[in-house]
Amino acid sequence: MITAHARATFSSDGPFKLTTIERRDLQAHDVLIEIQYAGICHSDIHTARGEWGPINYPLVPGHEIAGIVTEVGSQVTKYAVGDRVGVGCMVDSCRECDNCRKGEEQYCLNGMTGTYAAVDKYGQYTQGGYSTHIVVTEDFVVRIPDNIELDAAAPLLCAGITTYSPLRHWGAAPGKKVAVVGLGGLGHMAVKLAHAMGADVTVLSQTLKKKEDGLRLGASSYYATSDPKTFEKLAGSFDLIVNTVSAKIDMNAYLSLLALDGTLVNVGAPPEPLSVNAFSLIGQRRSFAGSMIGGIRETQEMLDFCAEHHVAPEIEVISADQIDQAWKRILASDVRYRFVIDISTMGNE
Ligand code: NAP
Ligand code: ZN
Ligand code: ZN
Repeated sequence: MITAHARATFSSDGPFKLTTIERRDLQAHDVLIEIQYAGICHSDIHTARGEWGPINYPLVPGHEIAGIVTEVGSQVTKYAVGDRVGVGCMVDSCRECDNCRKGEEQYCLNGMTGTYAAVDKYGQYTQGGYSTHIVVTEDFVVRIPDNIELDAAAPLLCAGITTYSPLRHWGAAPGKKVAVVGLGGLGHMAVKLAHAMGADVTVLSQTLKKKEDGLRLGASSYYATSDPKTFEKLAGSFDLIVNTVSAKIDMNAYLSLLALDGTLVNVGAPPEPLSVNAFSLIGQRRSFAGSMIGGIRETQEMLDFCAEHHVAPEIEVISADQIDQAWKRILASDVRYRFVIDISTMGNE
């Protein structure tokens, strides 16, 4: 076993504490990664607080992992010691079902293995990236292009791919009008990526507080959803709306902003059901859809796209002692625009 230092939460409302966790010894296709940076995703909070279902504690969250390969198993062919790599929300899947064969491992029909809070094929409870080391099978590791710094690469592994995948799937491109709801970690990546894909981007945020940022990130317009006039003015405007909001919001109001044949894709994952009136959809042949992260191949494609188009998240690097404070700020919609933990500050027990 390999001992890693980690920050774990020991209850649904507990603070983070320094601890140690065990990583499995390297199997033939495993790589050992020394983690340098780990992004903080709102999903870490939903999960750790038990909002999506019961959780075993202690829990080490973190599925936006960037680091360096320090050891490889005997049959590893894709990576070598010294490679700059990333790991996102999955560390394994069955690889045999129809969806895995299509490269959509996130939709594995036998259930993909989450990077944390899952049980892997070795029977071990997985623990995430708020830690110094992780062992992952090479097939679930991606390569970080040389011109993306490791701290900026980390958020791409979840916030990046989760927004890239639906933007690609629903054809964000020149001539398309895309709205992004919520300017947080996912939202700001959606704005940057949709802009880089050539779409005309509008931000729909609760207030106008972040308007300058939104326009700088690539949006051409920015509206406050707290102002009812926004919904009158923008009715029937968009080909695609990407909802990144972590809380329950009124889907019918946002569906009314779609043009004929438009799609509202939900990536936000509030625990409460989102209700939709039939008439919000049938009038303009609208679709209400969802999307979860992206497959490994598409994650690599997204990283290469970001390298080519110079797309990177806006990050605030914090020390491991600041995780609790960062979570509070995320919950207060006070994130600009992704917290990334500098793992070198982890400390030793
Ligand atoms: P985040 O950084 O906290 O951003 C969420 C944003 O939503 C906030 O910054 C805020 O933007 C807006 N918001 C928050 N509460 C709101 C409320 N009550 N009403 C209206 N707007 C509100 O979170 P994130 O890390 O981007 O994650 C967003 C959601 O996506 C979470 O639910 C997360 O679990 C989910 N997620 C899903 C996937 C997937 O695969 N589908 C992957 C990753 C994350 P404004 O201040 O601009 O209004
Ligand atoms: Zn995430
Ligand atoms: Zn599968």
